[in-house]
Amino acid sequence: MYAHSNTIMILQGKTALITGAGRGIGRAIALCFAREGCNVAFTDLELSDQVRATESELLALGIQAKAYAADAAHFNAAQTIVEQVQADFGTIDILVNNAGITRDGLLLRMNEQQWDDVISVNLKSAFNYTHAVIPIMMRARRGSIISIASVVGLAGNPGQANYAASKAGIIALMKSIAKELGPRGLRANAVAPGYIDTDMTQALPQQVRDSFIERIPMHRAGTTDEVAQAVLFLASDMSSYISGQVLAIDGAMN
Ligand code: NAP
Repeated sequence: MYAHSNTIMILQGKTALITGAGRGIGRAIALCFAREGCNVAFTDLELSDQVRATESELLALGIQAKAYAADAAHFNAAQTIVEQVQADFGTIDILVNNAGITRDGLLLRMNEQQWDDVISVNLKSAFNYTHAVIPIMMRARRGSIISIASVVGLAGNPGQANYAASKAGIIALMKSIAKELGPRGLRANAVAPGYIDTDMTQALPQQVRDSFIERIPMHRAGTTDEVAQAVLFLASDMSSYISGQVLAIDGAMN
């Protein structure tokens, strides 16, 4: 974990909304933002014990924090959540589209449900939340939107055609928004993590995990904190002239 300075808090007074942040990369982003003075609203599928534990950890850092239960794939729910966050926090300066799932399988055997689930949760969710927050950001004439893509969205991956397509889609969505809303003071970027140690990758067979590590020049998995720090940079004013980009966090894998 990076050494945190007590003197400079780079997101002091800002409010972020992060989807799917009960655990994994989203949770690490939430905690990283909170350590930088950011108020954090986050969603997850249910208000489980894990989600409540994340909420408590955030509150213990002395910022405003609240968990909301919502399926990120639902368009109307996104609108409702954003209205609630706006009422509870007063503004939304940063949106992180993080919620994501895998439903892997070779294309020949991939069924319609596997395709639809991954496109809905990974790609449509980013449309849902971006669509809901941009009126708020446009009024404020500022805002930073970051979507969690993946190296496979840049390079493709056998057995993950649905996932890779969803992540390539999210990159194109961010690049388009950057161009469309740049004149209104908004920035939009994507990060493309490689192989990161989380529940999602722990679920892969050991053989697949070993082959991933072998292909990484740095010979190790990344950590959720390493992803969070890159997202922090894109969320903050340190990246004030960076928009429409994809930042790979992959130990030189791609
Ligand atoms: P994870 O450990 O499986 O966590 C995913 C989180 O998203 C969980 O909190 C989960 O909630 C939530 N979620 C799932 N479906 C949702 C939905 N429909 N609505 C709202 N929340 C939902 O995954 P992760 O590894 O942290 O991945 C986070 C993001 O990074 C994803 O977009 C993933 O594609 C991307 N990514 C991960 C890696 C990696 O190596 N791990 C690499 C590249 C990109 P529950 O706890 O209720 O299931």
